[in-house]
Amino acid sequence: MSGKLFIVATPIGNLEDLTPRARKTLAEVDLVAAEDTRHTGRLLSHIGVKAPLLALHDHNEAQAVSSVIAALESGKSIALVSDAGTPLVSDPGYRLVQAAHAHSIVVSPIPGPCAVTAALSVAGLPTDRFCFEGFLPAKQAARRQVLDTLCRESRTLVFYESVHRITAVLEDMCAAFGDGRLAFIGRELTKLHEQCVQGTLGSLAVKVRDAAIVRKGEFVIVVAGSDEIAESSLEVDRLLVALNEHLSAKDAARVAADATGLKRNDVYKRLMVIRG
Ligand code: SAM
Repeated sequence: MSGKLFIVATPIGNLEDLTPRARKTLAEVDLVAAEDTRHTGRLLSHIGVKAPLLALHDHNEAQAVSSVIAALESGKSIALVSDAGTPLVSDPGYRLVQAAHAHSIVVSPIPGPCAVTAALSVAGLPTDRFCFEGFLPAKQAARRQVLDTLCRESRTLVFYESVHRITAVLEDMCAAFGDGRLAFIGRELTKLHEQCVQGTLGSLAVKVRDAAIVRKGEFVIVVAGSDEIAESSLEVDRLLVALNEHLSAKDAARVAADATGLKRNDVYKRLMVIRG
């Protein structure tokens, strides 16, 4: 019988956020696959757990996967952890999980901290639909291009950012989304110097520039989705008209909203305008 692969979330700052089930799992597995074995070694000794560690990071994932799969197939149970938060969320691990499914190995989540959900829970922006963009490109031209493609996205947007680029990224966001767009910055979430600030992109950029939001540590930026359907959105209009020939206006708006990611209300209003 193959062992089980557990994907274990660990704290994003505050060690008390490790769940009892995560602790129990780390104590019971035969092996812990970790992004950084020294970092995870410190976490394990903090919680009084001794477990053999194996490195699995971006640079060795391809090779490490075969030894982890071999160990699982020999009946060993394994926990995958990253340096912080939920593995696979802007962290290594998806190749391992993919291989485990391909080998019919049971994969089980041990959920817990994640900077995306921590930030969304306090951002005060709609969370019924959101779009996780992770880290933006480091180079400004590529970053601006990505932001330009997102400027009409109606879902709430979530970005990870490091201290090195936070000022430049906020300026680029002001340029792409407009400085009046509502947004949120979560800095050092769950840690001693945590800051959670909502404001327009313009006001957040000023606060970062003036160090009212300290330029240290780790950041999540949450940006409200666009609430405009551009007049030039011919494809959406065509889709709506075609759907409305076979469906009620309400159903046409629902299907078009699902297909485009736009808000149902906005699509319905647009249909009313088109129909005159
Ligand atoms: N797997 C992690 C998770 O579940 O959130 C994310 C790992 S990713 C390599 C690291 C990035 O997550 C940081 O650069 C930052 O953008 C964000 N992050 C992680 N911990 C954070 C915290 N305590 N406060 C704010 N952002 C954090």
